[in-house]
Amino acid sequence: MSVRVRFAPSPTGYLHIGGLRTALYNYLFAKNQGGKFILRIEDTDRSRFVENAMEGLIEILNWAGILFDEGPGVGGDYGPYIQSERLEIYKKHANLLLEKGNAYYAFDTSEELEAMRKKLQEKGLNPKYDRKTMKNQFTLSETEVKQRLNSDEPYVVRLLVPDNYKVHFNDIIRGDITVDSSEIDDQVLLKSDGYPTYHLANVVDDYLMKITHVIRGEEWLPSTPKHILLYEAFGWDLPKFAHLPLLLNKDRSKLSKRQGDVAVEDYRQKGYFKEAIINFVALLGWNPTGDREIYDFQELIDSFKLEKVNKGGAVFDIEKLNWMNFQYLMKKDTKELAIQFKTILIGKGYPEFSNDYLEKVIKVHRERVTFLHQILDFCPYMFQKPEKFDKEYFEKYWKDYSLAILKELLIKYSKIDNFVHDDLHKATLETASERGLKLKDIIHPLRLVITGRSAGAGMFETMEILGKNECLSRIQYFIDNYEKNTLVF
Ligand code: GLU
Repeated sequence: MSVRVRFAPSPTGYLHIGGLRTALYNYLFAKNQGGKFILRIEDTDRSRFVENAMEGLIEILNWAGILFDEGPGVGGDYGPYIQSERLEIYKKHANLLLEKGNAYYAFDTSEELEAMRKKLQEKGLNPKYDRKTMKNQFTLSETEVKQRLNSDEPYVVRLLVPDNYKVHFNDIIRGDITVDSSEIDDQVLLKSDGYPTYHLANVVDDYLMKITHVIRGEEWLPSTPKHILLYEAFGWDLPKFAHLPLLLNKDRSKLSKRQGDVAVEDYRQKGYFKEAIINFVALLGWNPTGDREIYDFQELIDSFKLEKVNKGGAVFDIEKLNWMNFQYLMKKDTKELAIQFKTILIGKGYPEFSNDYLEKVIKVHRERVTFLHQILDFCPYMFQKPEKFDKEYFEKYWKDYSLAILKELLIKYSKIDNFVHDDLHKATLETASERGLKLKDIIHPLRLVITGRSAGAGMFETMEILGKNECLSRIQYFIDNYEKNTLVF
């Protein structure tokens, strides 16, 4: 049977890093097995519905390169893939269970349920639905049930959990799991608004969509025994289950908003490369070989094995993500980086620079930053003439001979045809030795004049990239303003 897996998010606002990991592992497994990856939108909890959340989810999955074979907008043989468009299917299946006697009607109000839970909790008991004392098919007469149903009284359909029964299943990551039915609540399957609960819709869809492997986060493990009971009640074969380890903060608490960003979108906005995010997220719970950290998408696909996923929680270490981003910044083709960087610059209102120029700037500066956009903060002078100059740096290195040297350099540099590092170095060194100075006595003031700042990449490399005209005009600007006493610090 060919592999079919699904990512089944509820559109509650944004894609959580943990959601991305679930989507990615499903995708890697499907592609590794030559199977299909399906996106299904689980939007039956109307109280948690967020407008446009589905579009946002799809957009960010596409951005990350996690493309689905079947799903909203793409189609497939088993759709529609948005649960709110499948309500009739769930209703039909709830009725099937009612007919078979595996489910029952219940008429309790939320106040009654609250009171019941409170009472059980006070007695130190598990606050699950008490079938024997509440208002349902077991405590009401058949006529009364019919009357209530006919009079449009709100009702729910509950799963009849068998007494004295052991629910058993196998998890690819966690092994054999057995749960006593006494621990399982008579789960609501169909709510009073006519919508199914997650449990009913999820199981019915996994069956109808021919899902072979249910791969999801550990937080869904407690739901699985209920799902097994549903499969058994319908008389369906079980899919295989794999519950992925929790994501943890560094202090091993559950990954939460309080300790940092959890939305994938936030990381994208901060300028992380999608390759770094994918690589990082892939290693939250698994490592293909154990002896290195950087893998491209194809390597992840080729080596993915569900059995190799760890049980223990995976720590989300932001420093590691930053390190990975740097690795990709160093590794990526400068042509691609130049295109991305151009968009960043245009977004900030800068004029359009040539790709060739941007590539040169990136080559010289990327090892000094973690994010591509930080190049702009690191060397704004590569994109704009400096108009303000570092006062402290000026006071430290500007000497009474500096102006004369600048004037001399202006003439010398204007005679250099090949405005490259080595020729600039040679010409500057000449001036220094003629005056009995060290090269650095000239380079410091020169850096201030050209960049306005005290630090940057190599001075002659910087000048080579800026080009002859630009450098001469910056030197001239400084001389003029110095003489007029109009320099701005
Ligand atoms: N709708 C659930 C969620 O939001 C899906 C859980 C599952 O994969 O079964 O994560």
